[in-house]
Amino acid sequence: RRQPSRKGSMADVPQNLQDTIKSLEDTFDVSTAKLKEISDHFVKELEQGLTEEGGDIPMNVTWCMGFPDGHEQGTFLALDMGGTNLRVCEITLPEAKGEFDILQSKYRMPEELKTGTADELWEYIADCLQQFIEYHHEGEKLGQLPLGFTFSYPATQEYIDHGILQRWTKGFDIDGVEGKDVVAPFEQALADRGVPIKLTALINDTTGTMIASAYTDTDMKIGAIFGTGCNAAYMENCGSIPKIAHLNLPPDMPMAINCEYGAFDNAHKVLPRTKYDIIIDKESPRPGQQTYEKMIAGLYLGELFRLVCLDLYDNPEVRLFAGQDISRLRKAYTLDASFLSRIEEDPFGNLQETVDLFETELKLRVTRGECEVFRRLAELIGTRASRLSMCGISAICKKKDLKKCHVGADGSVFNKYPHFKPRAQKALREILDWPEGEKDWVDVRAAEDGSGVGAALIAALTIKRVKDGSS
Ligand code: BGC
Ligand code: MG
Repeated sequence: RRQPSRKGSMADVPQNLQDTIKSLEDTFDVSTAKLKEISDHFVKELEQGLTEEGGDIPMNVTWCMGFPDGHEQGTFLALDMGGTNLRVCEITLPEAKGEFDILQSKYRMPEELKTGTADELWEYIADCLQQFIEYHHEGEKLGQLPLGFTFSYPATQEYIDHGILQRWTKGFDIDGVEGKDVVAPFEQALADRGVPIKLTALINDTTGTMIASAYTDTDMKIGAIFGTGCNAAYMENCGSIPKIAHLNLPPDMPMAINCEYGAFDNAHKVLPRTKYDIIIDKESPRPGQQTYEKMIAGLYLGELFRLVCLDLYDNPEVRLFAGQDISRLRKAYTLDASFLSRIEEDPFGNLQETVDLFETELKLRVTRGECEVFRRLAELIGTRASRLSMCGISAICKKKDLKKCHVGADGSVFNKYPHFKPRAQKALREILDWPEGEKDWVDVRAAEDGSGVGAALIAALTIKRVKDGSS
């Protein structure tokens, strides 16, 4: 039996497929020099986003003004409107430092909702909250329960309990929400149902992740999501945010910034975009937006893979799937990131798992040589995503002069995609020039539950801030 090793197996791969692999490597590899160039440009864009004039990256002011001290207390609701699920939590922060109890229910977020109407969206969310309250508090007399709403899209906030959606991301396309306050219609839908909830804070998942992680680990300085979308938040000083200078806040007062850096390089100055990235952008509901996110986020990894496969099918030198019906493969977004994960997890040897995957998901018979191409392609797409993902993180570290810190990370790509973390750490090491043999100075680690515990903590911090301010 052949050992499961790559070297031995490549000898059997036909020359044209070996050439294909080589050219895919040229397309998707990102060198250390390129990563550094991107990261340096990223720092400038972060700065630019904080100015009055603005730039590609929104750098949204969140009104979350400080880290928790671990002694936050009370009972809060948290609502997480993610891409696939709607999650409602009730979180109790007890007296004990850094602890929490959590009760939660998940509701499926129907796919049609993403392209439906605004009313349908708010009604569906209000129905879920109503169900949650009726189920967990049947027959109780309730006062107004404070809620932290994790709304993971870019929003302009003048206060913490309001927010104007700048634009939908992650494939959402609901008319009549962009450019408007999302809190008012949400609260109206609750009021119509007599649900006793008061929205205390509207937050982003990255801010929630940073705050939840800092609750248990004071070295956590950045909250990041590597999931369906990608983004990060960090704590800035008010004095370094020119666009709020007119508010005359104390210069050293902390302010969490939701970078919304999925929009990095919308001007197309540094990212090494391939023709596949360009197609993804063109065919998305918001062309021209989220350039960086579209190259690295989970929503797009399967689509990148699919587009390359189609291209190789059409290529007369390669002719993947020769003579077969590829109609399933023609359907956009038919593959998701888990398809790539499974290919990357297939032990070398006969790559049987990959053969089966193509058979069951796409009704395609694939050869051993083709499997080598798929394996390499999945590795290249996954590796590019994790390496490029670190350009944003390293840029925040440079901007804030963070030499050593922890980054709280969440999201499906971080949690489930094989080798994401070691690939990312290697890229950070290259970008930030750590001395040989030194252990990781900036360490990307699994975060605490940002859109549950983080949302509750921010609600608690907000209530405390309002109380302290008015007494
Ligand atoms: C959204 C961000 C969010 C990120 C991760 C992006 O598409 O614009 O608000 O933090 O996805 O969920
Ligand atoms: Mg989420």
